[in-house]
Amino acid sequence: MAIGECIFCAIVKGQAEASIVYEDDAVAAFMDLQPVTPGHVLVVPKAHAVGLEDLDETLGCHMWAAAHRLARALRRSDLRLTSQRHRPQQPSSAPPGEARS
Ligand SMILES: [Zn+2]
Repeated sequence: MAIGECIFCAIVKGQAEASIVYEDDAVAAFMDLQPVTPGHVLVVPKAHAVGLEDLDETLGCHMWAAAHRLARALRRSDLRLTSQRHRPQQPSSAPPGEARS
């Protein structure tokens, strides 16, 4: 990785190791090295950006659409189903009859 370059740009360019789960012309998605939950995926633009406000609206929407599709796939995967089965039971604060996901 070159000096001054961020790790996400290095991953996108194939100069740093990552488990890529999705990629197109504008964005890439890969597994987080320190996952907070099973299946924790990061979606980044291929062009360097510090924050969401640095993206033009079209790219921001494209990145969000990719994240939405990945979240849907993860939610329906065995990985998420397995992790929910092993999650400790916590008392529900939802009113009776209200579904929680
Ligand atoms: Zn970068």
